[in-house]
Amino acid sequence: MVYLKTEEEIELVRISSLLVGKTHGVLAPHIVPGVVPEELDRIAEEFIRDNGATPSFFGYNGFPKSICVSINEEVVHGIPSKEPLKNGDIVSVDIGVYKNGFHGDSAYTYEVGEVDEEVHLLLERTKESLMRGIKAAKAGNRIGDIGHAIQSYVEDFGYGVVRELVGHGLGRDLHESPEVPNYGTQGRGKKLVEGMVLAIEPMVNLGVREIRQLRDGWTIVTRDGKPSAHFEHDVVIRKDGAEVLSTFEFVEKELVKS
Ligand code: MG
Ligand code: MG
Repeated sequence: MVYLKTEEEIELVRISSLLVGKTHGVLAPHIVPGVVPEELDRIAEEFIRDNGATPSFFGYNGFPKSICVSINEEVVHGIPSKEPLKNGDIVSVDIGVYKNGFHGDSAYTYEVGEVDEEVHLLLERTKESLMRGIKAAKAGNRIGDIGHAIQSYVEDFGYGVVRELVGHGLGRDLHESPEVPNYGTQGRGKKLVEGMVLAIEPMVNLGVREIRQLRDGWTIVTRDGKPSAHFEHDVVIRKDGAEVLSTFEFVEKELVKS
């Protein structure tokens, strides 16, 4: 069942998504060599709660922390640890907040210090694939158009698109229908209609697309151990195209300074 949102509900998702964007902006200056992911979790949780919201991921299916921090070959769902970040790492930070009865959910992959050029390109291109997916998300198109836009762009570079984990509807629940795969065929899948709110979140691997789960029951890693990137925006489907409700503005303002 897909819950189409009213304008009032869309505004509430926008408020939550905006707070996620601001939380990324608060974390960005801290994502440097030597910082401990648990500290990032603490800073994010404090900021979210100070803004009258709760972290969506804390306790979700038993998840033990407030944000997901996934380093290098970790794709998503990494549990913030006490292991300091190192120069050359990449780190996907996924943040969800719940406020006024609605969730926001957005992920950004950060470079820690200086990263290899091929890894830097993986990040740039994964972010670009998200933008292409968003461009395909307009009323009258289908879910497969989004996945096709993402997949066709990144596979040209020889990257692997993760299949087992997908984007999703978003609203009163963190994960609603429909599923939004990052692969697909043009013109296939559920039709996109005005008022659908979707989290689009390509997970793109430098190597093979296959993944596995660590024994902690959460962390997803690439099967070949090569790095993986992840970017996520929340959008609402409009007649002429998707309107982005989350934002990278705060994080990118901070990254320009560094
Ligand atoms: Mg997310
Ligand atoms: Mg999500």
